[in-house]
Amino acid sequence: MTDCIFCKIIARDISADIVYDDEQVLAFRDIQPQAPVHVVIIPKRHIATLNDLSSADAELVGRLYLAAKQVANELGVAQSGYRTLINCNRDAGQYVMHVHMHLLAGRPMDWPPG
Ligand code: AMP
Ligand code: ZN
Repeated sequence: MTDCIFCKIIARDISADIVYDDEQVLAFRDIQPQAPVHVVIIPKRHIATLNDLSSADAELVGRLYLAAKQVANELGVAQSGYRTLINCNRDAGQYVMHVHMHLLAGRPMDWPPG
């Protein structure tokens, strides 16, 4: 997708602080962090929202979580704790239409989220 900012990061057309990279998944620090650790984890294939995932993507979804686990370990927040979430569409606050998981850590998190 040429007009997708996350696809541009995957293509290295836009720079990002990459913290994880494999053949299917990329993770980079959020440009507007909402916590001391805020990482965005994305599939390298353009998929707009959670609604657009199919059963064929089951392994890919698992890979997003395994990447989150590895990033949390490497950034030293696995034991203190972290939150992973995927916003879907506007009511949830999804503005970049390339499905992505947020990993937030480094401070206590409120529940329920706002
Ligand atoms: P969402 O609001 O769930 O769509 O999340 C999109 C996230 O991507 C936001 O937290 C943005 O701060 C982040 N973001 C947008 N552009 C970039 C970028 N070029 N590099 C890193 N993070 C970005
Ligand atoms: Zn994209």
